Amino acid sequence: METILSIQNLDKKYGKVHAVNNLSFDIQKGNVYGILGPNGSGKSTTLGIILNVVNKTSGNFSWFNGRLSTHEALKKVGAIIERPNFYPYMSAVQNLQLICKIKGVSYDKIEEKLKTVNLYDRRNSKFRTYSLGMKQRLAIASALLNDPEILILDEPTNGLDPQGIHEIRQIIKDIAKNGTTILLASHLLDEVEKVCSHVVVIRNGIKLYSGRVDEMTASNGFFELQADNQNKLIKLLENHSSIGTINNENGVLIANLASELSASEINKFLFDNGVSLSHLVKRKPSLEQQFLDLTNNK
Ligand code: ADP
Ligand code: MG
Repeated sequence: METILSIQNLDKKYGKVHAVNNLSFDIQKGNVYGILGPNGSGKSTTLGIILNVVNKTSGNFSWFNGRLSTHEALKKVGAIIERPNFYPYMSAVQNLQLICKIKGVSYDKIEEKLKTVNLYDRRNSKFRTYSLGMKQRLAIASALLNDPEILILDEPTNGLDPQGIHEIRQIIKDIAKNGTTILLASHLLDEVEKVCSHVVVIRNGIKLYSGRVDEMTASNGFFELQADNQNKLIKLLENHSSIGTINNENGVLIANLASELSASEINKFLFDNGVSLSHLVKRKPSLEQQFLDLTNNK
């Protein structure tokens, strides 16, 4: 696996505000990463630092295994971290031609990138006639002109209507499918869930979780149990190796699973030990609940 970006113990203080706090994570080629956290958690600051527009307080980051200087490395990065800014009276094509000139990229790329973001049919319309979603898509096309190794997006769907949100997410997925690594910042759990393969959850600049999105849900779940002889039930659960913590919620026991165990296995185990259950349900916390647990309770 090729490491695109490695961040080690990154720290940023704005006076008393500790915006990024000892943050470390790696980005591997071909994945789609989300930095997920509530507003003010340090997402944009982190992106600003790795893009050399914000000075870090301490820590390190290195692009492409340190093979290139940051200046050279950033030529292989496409990023949109501010509201797209184009010339209102120029068409999409004219705006992109200007960017090609600045970046030293051939005009040939324009058609391909406008098709990627579904703006080819509107290529000759003036930028000022574009909806917010179209403006954002043009910004993505512009960031893709030099075929970057990685595309970085800060809150790519902010302010868009549901249709615009859907289009942008689909385009991001298409770009990822073609092999471009993606890093996006979002405060929306469902956005990260829908678009990303990997996630770094941060709050107050501190990393709470990093890993695969599907493993964020890899909790083994819990049982809800009830029996007439509750004391005996609790004793048996406490001595079972697959059961972790046990809570009593209004007379229903919530037994969290430390390892995989099916409802029929626990049912048989309890029955064999003299407890018949009046209630047994196996549940998994929703991703949303796990995210709230991560961001609120630590
Ligand atoms: P996010 O992008 O997750 O919403 P930010 O990185 O924008 O979070 O902000 C993280 C923290 O740093 C917030 O408390 C914010 O108010 C503060 N902050 C961001 N930029 C500045 C700045 N230029 N000067 C002072 N404080 C800042
Ligand atoms: Mg932000």
